[in-house]
Amino acid sequence: MRKSPYNATVTGKIMLTPDLMILRIRTDESRDEFKAGQFTTIGLLASEHRSPNSVIPLDSINPDSLIQRMYSIASAKNETRDFEFYISQVKSGQLTPRLFNLSQGSRIWVDDKIQGIFNLNETPKDCNIVMVATGTGLAPYISFLRSHVMEHKEIKLAVIHGAAYPWDLGYWSELTFIKNAFSNFYYFPTLLKPDETWTGLTGYIQKHLDAGILEMVGIDVDPCKTHFYLCGNPKMVESVTEFLERHGYSKHCTEKPGALHVEEY
Ligand SMILES: Cc1cc2nc3c(=O)[nH]c(=O)nc-3n(C[C@H](O)[C@H](O)[C@H](O)COP(=O)(O)OP(=O)(O)OC[C@H]3O[C@@H](n4cnc5c(N)ncnc54)[C@H](O)[C@@H]3O)c2cc1C
Repeated sequence: MRKSPYNATVTGKIMLTPDLMILRIRTDESRDEFKAGQFTTIGLLASEHRSPNSVIPLDSINPDSLIQRMYSIASAKNETRDFEFYISQVKSGQLTPRLFNLSQGSRIWVDDKIQGIFNLNETPKDCNIVMVATGTGLAPYISFLRSHVMEHKEIKLAVIHGAAYPWDLGYWSELTFIKNAFSNFYYFPTLLKPDETWTGLTGYIQKHLDAGILEMVGIDVDPCKTHFYLCGNPKMVESVTEFLERHGYSKHCTEKPGALHVEEY
């Protein structure tokens, strides 16, 4: 009999909608401490069942193969055994329908390595931090805030989160709590498909940046004063990048530091 590749157990699964969940996983062995905002790879055997509300993809896959995908870690950087992920189901995808079929106690594979340069370590301590996300692109910011919010009392921090419906605003309670607890933290959720109960922002993130939503709370769109983080839908990343480039921003990379940090999914 072949040895199982699994090295971790599902400890929690919170379904926010049928296609959006928070997944908690405990690894059998601790990982090294990581930087908030980094990602790891998780996987399941192709022989695992898919969720009932998924669509069978056209391409077949060997049932013995381990399907692996990368996910940003939402938990704090010092939680090296208990990992939280914020995941949306791609109905015709290979891994997410299998992840959505897991339950508490299910076994899963988690890579030993935690990677990525999307973190706060190279952002000057006196610069404001604006975190822009659509959908599950919020995950690395939850890790940023859980790990670092207490250290950044002298600067302003903002999360701008775009989603379709109110129920797609994962971590709304946690972000609202942080907003109420820290006067230097601003939370701007914006919806494309609000219902009649929604009294907040609507429409694309770009529209609110153009309208000066950040300047209204004293955050200058200036690369010397404010670092931007973008994560999520490629169209949002493209349009906000264009907006920031017009304000003198350049993309951060290992060779050339910049005030615009982008995580591409
Ligand atoms: C660094 C990094 C971090 C990531 N972090 C997260 C995270 O925190 N949460 C999260 O949910 N995902 C995250 N992703 C995306 C994730 O790795 C998978 O690509 C995604 O979950 C789809 O996997 P799948 O196997 O179900 O679909 P696949 O079998 O890989 O894809 C099936 C088809 O769906 C398309 N597709 C892929 N992703 C999407 C999507 N999001 N929406 C619509 N169509 C899509 C593909 O182009 C492909 O044609 C991250 C990716 C990277 C590179």
